[in-house]
Amino acid sequence: MSSTHRPVGLARRTESLSSSAIRDLLALTARDDVISLAGGLPATDLIPVARIAAAAEAVLRSPDAVQYCETAGHRTLRSVIASRESAVRGGVEVPADTVVVTHGSQQALTLLAQALIDPGAVVVIDEPAYTGALQVFSIAEARIEAIEIDADGMDTAELERRLTAGLRPVVVHTVANFHNPRGVTMSEQRRRHLAALADHYGFWVIEDDPYGEIWFAATGSTHGTGAPPPPIACFGDRVIRLSSASKILAPTLRVGWFVAPSAVCAAVELLKQGADLCGSSMTQLMAANMLGDTAWLDAHLTTLRREYACRATALTAALDAEFSARLTVSRPTGGMFAWATFEDGTGTDELLAAALEHGVAFVPGSAFASAEQYGRSLRLSFAGSTPAELAEAVRRLGAAHASIRAH
Ligand code: PMP
Repeated sequence: MSSTHRPVGLARRTESLSSSAIRDLLALTARDDVISLAGGLPATDLIPVARIAAAAEAVLRSPDAVQYCETAGHRTLRSVIASRESAVRGGVEVPADTVVVTHGSQQALTLLAQALIDPGAVVVIDEPAYTGALQVFSIAEARIEAIEIDADGMDTAELERRLTAGLRPVVVHTVANFHNPRGVTMSEQRRRHLAALADHYGFWVIEDDPYGEIWFAATGSTHGTGAPPPPIACFGDRVIRLSSASKILAPTLRVGWFVAPSAVCAAVELLKQGADLCGSSMTQLMAANMLGDTAWLDAHLTTLRREYACRATALTAALDAEFSARLTVSRPTGGMFAWATFEDGTGTDELLAAALEHGVAFVPGSAFASAEQYGRSLRLSFAGSTPAELAEAVRRLGAAHASIRAH
């Protein structure tokens, strides 16, 4: 993250503001001649534009769609989300009034930080972490502690050691499914462990899950479909589960949500009244129209899973062929990202500068670290490019790598 200055006349909290390295990079990669594997954008060509238009047409017949709605979200959408959440949780009932709809799940993170975190309070995050979470928790002036993740997600045994040694977080934030940026999924055993630790030590878990529906084939699955294990929220009472329509429908709807105990929902509702009165009735009703059409949604998700799986394989195969043992590449089982680490000492901040000159972009590992780490790693998004574009992107990356190794 790059630092900013505090011009005279601004509040003290603006001192902790810094721009997301990824959003800065997105501005650089908007050039037509750059193939960008940098952003966490869903594939534009797979966004169901015709179905979105039909949803808009249908909801505009209702006067509700053009009016303010309840702060916690339009009742119709909250009911649809509650029933989808109940299905994800294996049939456990999820009341609609435990759902709060937000302007993307990023706003849910911001409002939850305001509701739960006093300045100086401890927040535990994944290492590497979702950059948007890093940004929110630093704006909240939290003391950030990071716990490394491995192939099974956040290392909860390490978290327990730190708790036993006296660490007292108010919040633990984790992306348990198809992690951004590492791509890994937390095991069921660790989910149970984390929920039990939260109940015992009295902290909140924020289970941030925008990618859980984008699972690939049956590889590595425990239930034969490729779906991740049950949500952490199934295993304890102190879990706030966030999700979003951005990756499965379209980011432009700006529809995200969380499910939480009623005291948390009530506090966030008051904060949201102050922030924006309410979200957009129109896009919330459009999301309800699509998410509630299960036959259509299932078919759409099947297409997304098939296409993303195909793109993930195209990317990892091209990287293997280009770099062989010089680069260790993750094997995505869902989501949108591959994580790779150079074994030949290549620094990915330096590589990025060369890569942009060769017309390809990625996010260097340092952007996801709370401390100086991951200098030889990079995150590559396979979602937004076709297999042919991915092959060309990797060819350019190979040329950029050769250009800096030659010096
Ligand atoms: N959480 C995670 C882990 C993400 O990767 C993202 C978006 N990249 C978000 C939350 C926010 O997404 P949105 O606001 O579009 O729902």
